[in-house]
Amino acid sequence: MSININQISKSFGDTQVLNQISLDIPSGEMVALLGPSGSGKTTLLRIIAGLENQNSGEILFHGRDVSQVHARDRQVGFVFQHYALFRHMNVFDNIAFGLTVMPRKSRPSKAVIREKVMKLLEMVQLKEFAKRYPAQLSGGQKQRVALARALAVEPAILLLDEPFGALDAQVRKELRRWLRQLHDELKFTSVFVTHDQEEAMDVADHIVVMSQGNIEQHGTPQQVWQKPESRFVLEFLGEIN
Ligand code: ADP
Repeated sequence: MSININQISKSFGDTQVLNQISLDIPSGEMVALLGPSGSGKTTLLRIIAGLENQNSGEILFHGRDVSQVHARDRQVGFVFQHYALFRHMNVFDNIAFGLTVMPRKSRPSKAVIREKVMKLLEMVQLKEFAKRYPAQLSGGQKQRVALARALAVEPAILLLDEPFGALDAQVRKELRRWLRQLHDELKFTSVFVTHDQEEAMDVADHIVVMSQGNIEQHGTPQQVWQKPESRFVLEFLGEIN
């Protein structure tokens, strides 16, 4: 599902956090919102998610103004940095959750839910962990469950806010490969917030570099890397390299 962001502005009190942001994301693409802390990435993601209201501008999913679409019908999945797994539910039930709370007429049967969850467990290679509880999992495993849970309802759009931010470098790398693989296989559209340029370069089709509520550059990893369009982008990329 395509996402069109048109002239989105947002302020909190006197602070302008997003300044007329426009961005078009074609269906099936993975876009990374990259920028330093405080640049407005999370706020933009939350507005796309419908968790926050903009002051002006509009967001269209597949050409349709999302403010007109009930949250339940938006086909959006989320993964956040701090695993919001249900502690009292095992891995299987965590992943099944979104399916079991669907409205009765669209809710799959128990057998179908079981089949779906087992397939997802296989995809994230956690089949033998189905009966474990979140407290018995590593950070990386928890995020794989979070990913599987978000994907269980077959979202057309997956929104991720620093999903691997709390994990160590090796696990991060592994998980972003997973994410990319699942993305390519299931063909959803992803918006991925990160402050880590290596992560953005490695995983995204397009990178949107943000600074102080503005888009500094939007391009492929190669374009952003080889032709930084502003001093900010050059310096931001240069910080690590
Ligand atoms: P990023 O994700 O790039 O770190 P955020 O979107 O979280 O940036 O924040 C952008 C700015 O908006 C920051 O200055 C932050 O303090 C401010 N901000 C974010 N959420 C709120 C809020 N609920 N109330 C007031 N200020 C906020």
